[in-house]
Amino acid sequence: MLYDVAVVGAGVAGSCAAFAAAKRGLSVVLLEKEALPRYKLCGGAVTRKTMELLAGEGIRLPTKLFHEVRKVKVKIPGAEREIDVARGNILTTYRDVLDYALAKEAERAGAEIRDATRVKGIKLEHGKCLLETEHGEISSRFVIGCDGVSSIVRKHLFGWRFPSRELGVAAEYEVPWLSLDAMEIHFGHASFSYTWAFPKREGATIGVAELASRLGESIVSRLESFASTLPYVDASALPPAKAHLIPMGGIRRKVAAPRAALAGDAAGFVDPLSGEGTYHAALSGIKAAQFVSEVLNGKEKSLLAYQSFCDRELLPDLRAMLYLGRLFYFNMDFSYHLFKNSDVLFSVISALGGSEPKPRVILRRALMFSLKNLPSYVLKRIGQA
Ligand SMILES: Cc1cc2nc3c(=O)[nH]c(=O)nc-3n(C[C@H](O)[C@H](O)[C@H](O)COP(=O)(O)OP(=O)(O)OC[C@H]3O[C@@H](n4cnc5c(N)ncnc54)[C@H](O)[C@@H]3O)c2cc1C
Repeated sequence: MLYDVAVVGAGVAGSCAAFAAAKRGLSVVLLEKEALPRYKLCGGAVTRKTMELLAGEGIRLPTKLFHEVRKVKVKIPGAEREIDVARGNILTTYRDVLDYALAKEAERAGAEIRDATRVKGIKLEHGKCLLETEHGEISSRFVIGCDGVSSIVRKHLFGWRFPSRELGVAAEYEVPWLSLDAMEIHFGHASFSYTWAFPKREGATIGVAELASRLGESIVSRLESFASTLPYVDASALPPAKAHLIPMGGIRRKVAAPRAALAGDAAGFVDPLSGEGTYHAALSGIKAAQFVSEVLNGKEKSLLAYQSFCDRELLPDLRAMLYLGRLFYFNMDFSYHLFKNSDVLFSVISALGGSEPKPRVILRRALMFSLKNLPSYVLKRIGQA
């Protein structure tokens, strides 16, 4: 059988793409290398804008999958602040259950799911995509690569990979016995990231991320030393840590080819400041499917329309967060001074929840605040010297 579209990877991007393509009447096969439900390392924070995006597309998710966060504690060396979170702005979940529910939604819309089916190679022949899998060959008119940071679709059909300076590495403990009343974000344990403790429905997730190029030790040692600073954690009772790569968003990359599109982590769509990837995975997966459908029914000439969408709609906000991150992490001492005395950091957290302002507005405010406060900060430091 020749499918209209083969989606590789049944994470958030893949299941959303498969749902959106099937909903538009295309014949879809969703290929996943693991048996579903499969484990995925993730803080599992899901924002209001993601839930609204999924609901707007017609994807139904039971509320029992989520834990509602009502408070965020931000800790920076020498200061701590607590922010109340409006109902539904930030939720947490486990990715095995969320991604499985999304895959089931894709199936409900008409997609055929083949799990435990790894794609080993892809080639283009006579205008068709031929996917070599563990269980034989599959052919399709289009391929959407939603196969994560080490994407095989990207390798075979796009020929680029992330340089190490554009990759983060993260590690987490999933702690079933830990109960937290707030989501915690700590600065000061990583040079270009933060560390976290997120409450979940049944426990909590403790994690750390760092730029791969700046990590001078193992990420697990970094996680161990962060966990040892948490007063409520018994280090001897922690489960083994797991680690995974995170691509850095905000950099323009080729994500569309004549017969293929990349979405989610495969395309590098992760907020480089917050690490939020599920929203961009869902959005890019849905949009990739929508553009494939429009090319098939003649409304669009080619998938270049998807590239333009990503460059126009996804890239500017991700890039603003990248610049904000560079500004914040350039001189941590100044950043602490800045963030202790302004609401910029708190705007970032509200923006994550989907409230205004947009990242570009936050960046502008942060720059203005930095320019205004730099002279007084320099004078203070000179006075202390
Ligand atoms: C430690 C950590 C914490 C994070 N915390 C958060 C958070 O709290 N909130 C948030 O929004 N984001 C978070 N992120 C980012 C988020 O997890 C990712 O951006 C998101 O998972 C991207 O989804 P995806 O569908 O693109 O890729 P993935 O979820 O990685 O899915 C890719 C799928 O493709 C499959 N696959 C791979 N290769 C093949 C193949 N050859 N054949 C078939 N299938 C294949 C994989 O098995 C997998 O199921 C975190 C990331 C990490 C590492």
